[in-house]
Amino acid sequence: MKRLIFILLLLFYLQGFSQIKVCADFEGGNVKILQIDGTKIFFKAAYKTNQKSNIWFYFKLWDFPKDSSLSLYQIIDFVPYTNQKLIYSYDNRNWHSTNAIQPNNSLNVFKLPTDDADTIFIALTYPYTYSMLMDFIDSLAKNYNIDTTTLTYSEHHRRIPLLIISDTTADTVPKDMLWIIARQHAFEVPANYFTEGLIEYFLSNDSLANFFRKQYIAYIVPMMDVDNVAEGKSGRSQLPVDFNRDWRDSAHWAAIQETQNLISSTADINNFRIFIDIHSVFPDFYDSTLTFFNIYPENSEQSKNLSQLFGIFSQLSDLTPNEIHDQTQKPFADLYMKTTYPYLDFSVTLEVPWNTGHQQPTRYWRKLGKLFAKSLIIYLTSDLSK
Ligand SMILES: [Zn+2]
Repeated sequence: MKRLIFILLLLFYLQGFSQIKVCADFEGGNVKILQIDGTKIFFKAAYKTNQKSNIWFYFKLWDFPKDSSLSLYQIIDFVPYTNQKLIYSYDNRNWHSTNAIQPNNSLNVFKLPTDDADTIFIALTYPYTYSMLMDFIDSLAKNYNIDTTTLTYSEHHRRIPLLIISDTTADTVPKDMLWIIARQHAFEVPANYFTEGLIEYFLSNDSLANFFRKQYIAYIVPMMDVDNVAEGKSGRSQLPVDFNRDWRDSAHWAAIQETQNLISSTADINNFRIFIDIHSVFPDFYDSTLTFFNIYPENSEQSKNLSQLFGIFSQLSDLTPNEIHDQTQKPFADLYMKTTYPYLDFSVTLEVPWNTGHQQPTRYWRKLGKLFAKSLIIYLTSDLSK
């Protein structure tokens, strides 16, 4: 009997401490496991082909003890940040957020309860995958105010969606035109939730949105770098050229060439007025409010237009946007548009805040996108903007 108890205890011990399994071999997945020691897991974001930046991780664990806890040691070797939460989920759908118990510039330590789950998914922030974009676009297909079409195909042969929002029954010709692009940097996930909110507002039954669709046409490329998003790469600073350093004649990336071509041809038949490039830089950077880069001289017409727009946004949102006067002159999308189409109301880059202090960040990011879309319409319909 004693021997049986001993064997049972030994089996229990062995089972409880069998090696935890890890996998990031799924859409958007990324991890490099450095060591697993019992319930301690040392990991970092994996470098992948053509990558220089190294921040995005998304992986799953199984074969861990139930009703226990795991300690995750995140080694940081790209940019130092300490204000990062880690996101985990037992079903890859409903996510929970937790702070590092030991935040550090180079090592963050998180503790996760295992509950009675079989699997835990872990990510840098709420994943927004290529499939999620496709599902979102499918959900819009029945709306007759949107044309869901294809910009072009990526280097790895993925479809890059283009959305065109306008009331095609309205006989306003030519229409005033906006161009909006997002996710040039693959790991900048909040940008896509913001863009969803913006699109939902443009398509809403709000009287402002109805008016907008009659008078205006909006072209939206919600995910420029589809390959790096799908393949779990961080994207920023990638080789041979970062997406947002490639805005020039004879651009390297197909998505950029095609955006440039289509803007050129649509600007021939519409009144091109506004260009917006939506990003969401790192955790710790520009947190808590929307940041915009102003590439125009102070007191220029465009600077006044931007002030007007962001004044409207702060009234609607109770957030005072952060303005950065950017004179770096790098081949960013905003600078390309400013130079090629000097008559625009403005061309601007936005940074959606990463850490918002909100319990449900994805809902909050969408809300910011909606409020921004509404601000844009109020701006466009105000006399001052003309
Ligand atoms: Zn970016």
